[in-house]
Amino acid sequence: MSGIDTLPPLREVIAAHDLAPRKSLGQNFLLDLNLTAKIARQAGDLSKCDVLEIGPGPGGLTRALLAEGARRVLAIEKDARCLPALEDIAAAAPGRLKVIGGDALAVDSRQHLTPPIRIVANLPYNVGTELLVRWLTPPEWPPFWSSLTLMFQREVAERIVAHPGSKAYGRLALLASWRCDARIVMTLPPGAFTPPPKVSSAVVHLTALPAPRYPADAGTLERVIAMAFNQRRKMLRSALKGLRPDIEDVLRAVGIPPTDRAETVTLEKFCALARAIHTG
Ligand code: SAM
Repeated sequence: MSGIDTLPPLREVIAAHDLAPRKSLGQNFLLDLNLTAKIARQAGDLSKCDVLEIGPGPGGLTRALLAEGARRVLAIEKDARCLPALEDIAAAAPGRLKVIGGDALAVDSRQHLTPPIRIVANLPYNVGTELLVRWLTPPEWPPFWSSLTLMFQREVAERIVAHPGSKAYGRLALLASWRCDARIVMTLPPGAFTPPPKVSSAVVHLTALPAPRYPADAGTLERVIAMAFNQRRKMLRSALKGLRPDIEDVLRAVGIPPTDRAETVTLEKFCALARAIHTG
């Protein structure tokens, strides 16, 4: 038995440290260690990787990441009440778990991590999308991480893997598919969590491609996509008219009918449009 296996059940940890879940922190805990092991396994071979975990809470997924053989885990948790429970896990896995108390949006995690780095988390719903967009839009590509294995509300997970023409298709799908392979690898009912949230959840696994799928200037592509989907019911010639006065001609030149709406346009076409705008 490793040190981690000798830790008490999570329900006891929660009772001992008085960790009544707080809605304001998006606290829906996973207490079934078989389930956290299954999620950790979706991240692939962890043995040669540092793992960044956001929001470890009482540590169910943290334990699984260590048990699955992660070289080191860096866990960033905003709720100071959870820190003593996490320090107990650190003591059971000497030298392999570093816990930082703080807001993941403010902590510079990179300085504590050595590549290769995988990010694995059951994200708090209130900051999950913002963190994902940050990870997908770093100043340089390839990014500091090689894969992301992340739990979201199912509706958000579906937006990440959506295809053109579907209601879920938009900025998240385009940012994800431009430089990653993304797929849903697990879905979980509300009852898997304590307390159960109102909706189902899903785990998305994203692997960073070595280079973008199609060439484009990142800043221009992000601006075009943001404008196009900001007014998604408008025709593209209206939604994008702020970009250039001759936007209708530019759209036609790259093969996009100016009366089309953003949700029908493929990633390849958005990249062609971004190139035309950037170079023109
Ligand atoms: N990983 C645990 C699990 O699976 O049982 C808890 C997941 S719970 C959905 C989200 C966790 O993120 C909570 O522990 C919450 O306190 C923490 N959290 C919320 N906002 C955060 C932030 N801005 N930075 C770091 N952690 C945060």
